[in-house]
Amino acid sequence: MLSVPDYEFWFVTGSQHLYGEEQLKSVAKDAQDIADKLNASGKLPYKVVFKDVMTTAESITNFMKEVNYNDKVAGVITWMHTFSPAKNWIRGTELLQKPLLHLATQYLNNIPYADIDFDYMNLNQSAHGDREYAYINARLQKNNKIVYGYWGDSEVQDKIASWEDVAVAYNESFKVKVARFGDTMRNVAVTEGDKVQAQIQMGWTVDYYGIGDLVEEINKVKDADIDKEYADLESKYTMVQGDNDADKYTKSVRTQLKQYIGIKSFLEKGGYTAFTTNFEDLWGMEQLPGLAAQLLIRDGYGFGAEGDWKTAALGRVMKIMSHGKKTAFMEDYTLDLRKGHEAILGSHMLEVDPTIASDKPRVEVHPLDIGGKADPARLVFTGSEGDAIDVTVSDFRDGFKMISYAVAAHKPEAETPKLPVAKQLWTPKVGLEKGALAWMQAGGGHHTMLSFALTEEQMEDFATMVNMNKAFIK
Ligand code: MN
Repeated sequence: MLSVPDYEFWFVTGSQHLYGEEQLKSVAKDAQDIADKLNASGKLPYKVVFKDVMTTAESITNFMKEVNYNDKVAGVITWMHTFSPAKNWIRGTELLQKPLLHLATQYLNNIPYADIDFDYMNLNQSAHGDREYAYINARLQKNNKIVYGYWGDSEVQDKIASWEDVAVAYNESFKVKVARFGDTMRNVAVTEGDKVQAQIQMGWTVDYYGIGDLVEEINKVKDADIDKEYADLESKYTMVQGDNDADKYTKSVRTQLKQYIGIKSFLEKGGYTAFTTNFEDLWGMEQLPGLAAQLLIRDGYGFGAEGDWKTAALGRVMKIMSHGKKTAFMEDYTLDLRKGHEAILGSHMLEVDPTIASDKPRVEVHPLDIGGKADPARLVFTGSEGDAIDVTVSDFRDGFKMISYAVAAHKPEAETPKLPVAKQLWTPKVGLEKGALAWMQAGGGHHTMLSFALTEEQMEDFATMVNMNKAFIK
């Protein structure tokens, strides 16, 4: 399994010296209490560390520099306990290169009518302190997140938790390396894009390799290692020989496992966390990677078929954001346009992610009828039901654009005995016609990432962080 470092978030509180040292001690105590309780809530995927009360431009600037420099820190959470003159924040905030969450909250969630006095007001000035501070972030065009509400409420804590996952994915996005085995599919447009711009904006390194380099690595795989993976496969999935004779079945499965081990070794050596294949570029390979690709996707690698490096990189980012849960490469495959049944059947020839399976995947061997190679083994299963989102990225002359809608995911109405692929159905929540029209008018392609674990808000936050254009269909 590909892993993600155990990041932390640094929390600071804004104040000033108008009301004396005693007040500042109270500010620090309250902020520490908030950090402790957020951590104790058990909701946050990454720890919040309270660092200090910030009162001067110099301390804020030094703090932001340290955040930039420290690889353990994924981002900053700020809160204005009192009135903190926003001019103090300009230099430091300008220098900040990591995600910023402004937690606009108040230590108490009520107005203490009986006891409220000017001492209380001098200490608790979030109501206008947070506005003053938000102004400067808006003015600096920081594209920061603002979470508003009482810090002790579970909805507010959920929002902080969701944002933490996005912020970590943003940090990790700059480490995403995609190995392209072969080029993009001939004649296809939407899978193309500006790789240099993708690296500048999202941090994605996208490198090409000739198939010969990969075949060489696959040919080094030892039989004993394939035996081990075969036993692992048998322990996790149902082996279905079907109409194949035993030798053909075993050989096909072993060929895929050999590719799995070989591709993984190639990716590990180069530090790659995502990859693409192309059925038009298979020189020297016995089969198109099917089961091999599915096992790598399961392990957390991003994947794009037909050379689609944008979806491969997006897939890796979304797997980081979702902790590897139920987030799959998909293709709009075929449609049910009948009234009352409106749905998109999503699938791919072979490479469907088993993390969305609702039943135990079966290892099957069937002809592919494309690419002119031997019959590939693949995992066949049924997708899941529930709320999900579907996301893609297209490239235009005015930049990358994220296109997305919320969907209701469901299972196929019947089996497809003659189409042995893993299947997932979904219907855009705005309706199939409205959703599909808006998607196509925005220029969204047929390759997508479908996630049961992430929300539209998270994807919008990510698009905002990387300054991507957005078409969120609602
Ligand atoms: Mn495709």
